[in-house]
Amino acid sequence: MIPTQLSLLPFLEHEQSPRPANFIPVYEPWLGDLELEYVTEAVRSSWISSLGKYVQQFEAQFARFCGVAHGISTSNGTTALHLALHALGIGPGDEVIVPALTFVASANAVHYTGATPVFADVDPVTWTLDPNDVARRITPRTRAIMPVHLYGHPAPMDAINELARAHNLWVVEDAAEAHGAAIRGRRTGGLGHVAAFSFFANKVITTGEGGMVTTNDEALANRCRMLRDHAMPPESRYWHNEVGFNYRLTNLQAAVGVAQMTRIEEFLRRKRTIAGLYQTGLADIPGITLPTEAPGYTNIFWMYSILVQKPYPLSRDELIVALRAEGIDSRPFFHPLDTLPPYRSAEPRPTALALSRVGLNLPSSPRLTDGQVAFICETIRKLAR
Ligand SMILES: *Cc1c(COP(=O)(O)O)cnc(C)c1O
Repeated sequence: MIPTQLSLLPFLEHEQSPRPANFIPVYEPWLGDLELEYVTEAVRSSWISSLGKYVQQFEAQFARFCGVAHGISTSNGTTALHLALHALGIGPGDEVIVPALTFVASANAVHYTGATPVFADVDPVTWTLDPNDVARRITPRTRAIMPVHLYGHPAPMDAINELARAHNLWVVEDAAEAHGAAIRGRRTGGLGHVAAFSFFANKVITTGEGGMVTTNDEALANRCRMLRDHAMPPESRYWHNEVGFNYRLTNLQAAVGVAQMTRIEEFLRRKRTIAGLYQTGLADIPGITLPTEAPGYTNIFWMYSILVQKPYPLSRDELIVALRAEGIDSRPFFHPLDTLPPYRSAEPRPTALALSRVGLNLPSSPRLTDGQVAFICETIRKLAR
C-alpha cells in the first residue's frame, strides 16, 4: 500500500507545526493498489512520456463519463483552460467574462491569451455566475463567457447559453471542481462549447497534476490536440504552421487516471452521502448557512461549504482557528479576483466580496468516515454555545 506520510505530504507543506495523528484534512487523494499496478506497468513498458496506451484510454473514459465526444488530456487544469481559449482564437483586444468568485487560474488562463478577464458578480444562493450581471458586462469586445461550477454546483448554463447565442459568444466551462455535476442529468463538460477539468491532488479524481479539455466539436478537438503538441500537424512531422505548446499529460499520470476512473462513481456517491450527513448534522444552527442544490441541478459537493454569519458567535476566521485546535482543517473561500493586485478593480462585486468574507470549505474528502463528519458537526454546534 501507499505509505500515508506520502499521501499527506501536500497538505503538510504550509503548516507551521506537526499535526496530530488524528488531524482531519480538507481533502486527501484516494489512491490504491490499482493506481500502483498501472503506473508500474507504464514504467516497465518504458512508455513514460505522452505516448502509451493509458493516455488515449483515459481520454476516452473521461469523455464517456462526461457524455461528450472528445477528451484532450493536458498537463493541468490551467493549461486545459488556456488551450481551449487559445484554440477558439481568443487573444489580445478580446474580453472574456469570468466570475469574480473563483480560483485565480480561471482569470490567469484568459490573461495568458492576451485577452482581458472581465469580472461578473455571482448569485448569493448558488455562488456561481449571475447571468444578469454577465448581461450588463457584455461589450463589442466580449468573445466568451467562462462559467465556473464553483465547489461542485453547476453554473446556470441555460441562461448563460441563451446570452451567448444572442451575442454570438463562446461558452468555456471551468469544470475543474465539478466532475460529474449535472443539470437535468446532463453532466458538466458538455454544457457549453468546450470545458476544462483539473486532476490536481485535491480534485474529485487525481493524476497528481493533470487536466482535460472536453468538447463535442470535432474540429475544435483536433485543433486542441495539435496545439497541445507544439502545433505539429499529425501528417507532417516537424512542420509548424503556428506557435503551439507542450501541454501533454504523461502516460504515467494517465495510468493513475485510468485507475481513478474505475472508482469515480463510488467517490461521487460517497461525497453525496457525506453531504447528507453534514446537512443533518449542521441543521438549524443559527448563523450557519448550508450549501444549496438548485432544482434540476446535481451538486457534487466537491468542497462541502458553509457561510458563517451572525448570530453564530464566532466569525469565519475565528471558526477556522477553533476548528484547527480540535484537529479539523478548513479553508476560507477564495478572495474575489477583482480584489487581487493583478486584477484589481475600483468597484468590487458586492456578492462575491460578501461571500468571500464568510464562506468556509469543510473537510470533503470521500475518505472521511461517518464518525469524522459527526465530530466536525458536533464541534461546530458546541462552539455555537
Ligand atoms: C483547480 C482549479 C483550476 C486549475 O487547475 P490546476 O490543475 O490546478 O491547474 C482552475 N479553475 C478552478 C476553479 C480550480 O478549482
